Amino acid sequence: MRSVTVLRVEGSALSADIADTVVAVVAEEGIVAWDFETEPEYAVKLAWARQFVDEEILPLEVLELPENELWRAMAPLQQEVRRQGLWAAHLPPELGGMGFGQVRLGLLHEILGRCYLAPVVFGNNAPDSGNAELLAVGIEQSGREDQRQKWLEPLLAGDRRSAFSMTEPGAGADPTLIVTSAVRDGDEWVINGHKWFTSNGSVADFLIVMCVTNPDVHRYAGCSMIVVPAATPGVEIVRDVPTMEHPFPHFGRLGGHSEVIYRDVRVPVENLVGNEGDGFRLAQMRLGPGRIHHCMRWLGQSQRAFAMLCERAVSRHVHGSVLADKQFVQGWVADSMAEMAAARLMTLQAAWKMDREGAPAARVEIAMIKYYGAQVLYNVIDRAIQAHGSLGFSTDMPLEHMYRAARAARIYDGPDEVHKVTVARHVLKRYQPVEVPSEHVPTRRRAAARKFADLLAEVSAND
Ligand SMILES: Cc1cc2nc3c(=O)[nH]c(=O)nc-3n(C[C@H](O)[C@H](O)[C@H](O)COP(=O)(O)OP(=O)(O)OC[C@H]3O[C@@H](n4cnc5c(N)ncnc54)[C@H](O)[C@@H]3O)c2cc1C
Repeated sequence: MRSVTVLRVEGSALSADIADTVVAVVAEEGIVAWDFETEPEYAVKLAWARQFVDEEILPLEVLELPENELWRAMAPLQQEVRRQGLWAAHLPPELGGMGFGQVRLGLLHEILGRCYLAPVVFGNNAPDSGNAELLAVGIEQSGREDQRQKWLEPLLAGDRRSAFSMTEPGAGADPTLIVTSAVRDGDEWVINGHKWFTSNGSVADFLIVMCVTNPDVHRYAGCSMIVVPAATPGVEIVRDVPTMEHPFPHFGRLGGHSEVIYRDVRVPVENLVGNEGDGFRLAQMRLGPGRIHHCMRWLGQSQRAFAMLCERAVSRHVHGSVLADKQFVQGWVADSMAEMAAARLMTLQAAWKMDREGAPAARVEIAMIKYYGAQVLYNVIDRAIQAHGSLGFSTDMPLEHMYRAARAARIYDGPDEVHKVTVARHVLKRYQPVEVPSEHVPTRRRAAARKFADLLAEVSAND
């Protein structure tokens, strides 16, 4: 076996932000190499997944099957994924997953991102994947084992669907504004509130609702998550909100974003996820890995759009040559390639840090790739549409739908601006205010003259 040493190149305060991206592997022979390869056995699984997505799942995308027929068509594919040991791969082995870690998962999600149905077939579609993790952590913390059999296992088996109900019309980017309340009455929580953009709310069997359980303390300590079965009296799924992605009125479709009223909804106290007051902490734990998976899926989408851009570039003949010969188009290809490479490295680096130090330690890296990756996705699809002209604008190509869906990436799981604020605040903490800039040349010159006074004296003596 090859013996390797991992070198961490530490930098000055100025470069500390990128210090742990600089990791080299020194092989026995003394050759320094960047090691981005995965294990051969896992590479085989990835190759299988890619072929399976392209040949078995992508064709379903264009059939426009009714919802129940679509599920029927996907059932044998889900069985095949289970047989390959790739079902719900995001989960630890004790929950039936593979315990892959975030880097390997990232590589899988890059493939699944090619088609919106692929995560469903692989048992790791949002919001069910994040909700399963949430329930698992909650059970670990509260010891409420009955939730395992009641909610978690059916969710993992794909027998139940869930939704995550946090955002309210008045509380989104700033969730401390949440007002939905849960008041304890004997052995029950009584929930009242108004949520929206609860993804999959209209097809969910249960919803995990973020509520204020203690209005007398700061929201960070006063919010909790509670499981609410969708059939509980008082739960009103008002509508699936028509969006840029699905502009026409619809209801009860996978991928819908529901408006929900909770009116005197009573559920047993045992439906609390984790402990009372854990809401925000659980939300952070849920959103960290979820964001990384989003980013890798966006890369899969970007790569698909990029392939269309390149194919069009070498095929379309205008003004005396193919598009590929025009410098504008070459610029789109080169910019897209560079942006995707940067996004991929940033995502894998964030995933790698999560594997080594946990999600909270990678908070800044996750925030950075969330806004950067969302913009790259949007840029690449936009260029691919431009290269296709009217064909790109038409529904004869998947690009227009990809474009509409991609716009939301800059908003959900926290809008760009909030993540940028996180990154900037973290970076700026390292700097102190100064009277004179540290790099002010006359000041530096005076300091250098004092430091090298002997040398300067010698130079003037020799003149
Ligand atoms: C497709 C989609 C799916 C979603 N799924 C779910 C789900 O399943 N469950 C759920 O609970 N929620 C979900 N959401 C809601 C999502 O999390 C919120 O939309 C998001 O948190 C932003 O909240 P908001 O829409 O209320 O925007 P607002 O809070 O109204 O913010 C509006 C804009 O203000 C700006 N802004 C906000 N804060 C700052 C700041 N500090 N500095 C500078 N500018 C700022 C940003 O540009 C932001 O886009 C989903 C949203 C979308 C679009």
